Amino acid sequence: MSERVGVYPGSFDPITCGHMDIIQRATKIVDKLIVAVASPHHKKTFFDVQTRLQMVQGAIEHLPRVEVKSFDGLLVRFVREEGAHIVVRGLRAVSDFEYEFKMASANGRLDESIETIFLMASERQQFTSSQIVREIASLGGEVTQFVPQNVIQYFGKK
Ligand code: ADP
Repeated sequence: MSERVGVYPGSFDPITCGHMDIIQRATKIVDKLIVAVASPHHKKTFFDVQTRLQMVQGAIEHLPRVEVKSFDGLLVRFVREEGAHIVVRGLRAVSDFEYEFKMASANGRLDESIETIFLMASERQQFTSSQIVREIASLGGEVTQFVPQNVIQYFGKK
């Protein structure tokens, strides 16, 4: 049987424990998961793409069936190039629904062979977001409980 490949796209600016929760859940469903770090096009990110890639790489090192790549341009094109048919996205409370719904239906129309699946993080991670982490860090707060251990050093460098 062919390998079931999933793509988990996002900004990961930076990767958080919420993202890690979704990654771990997704590995129960797919054989191989590619964390796809978006290069900036319309969105200005806090960390550049190389740094975001390094942060994800460090965080997934212990997960053998997970890898990280950057992508730009159309997500469906990247998904096809990787031989995948599953896009993984995470959903938090109600805040993500409208945007995620729009993106999933647009991607489904661009390529009917691609399915988007939504996973919910644990209750503890419901309010974890990259934006909250950046805000806490910029105000000098402790972000240890919100990001994987290897990510903390990058805030020191900023
Ligand atoms: P984007 O910039 O594309 O929204 P993000 O890096 O912010 O990318 O998030 C990538 C995906 O992970 C999105 O589907 C987002 O909803 C999901 N996600 C992020 N944080 C959490 C969390 N704490 N719980 C569940 N899903 C999450």
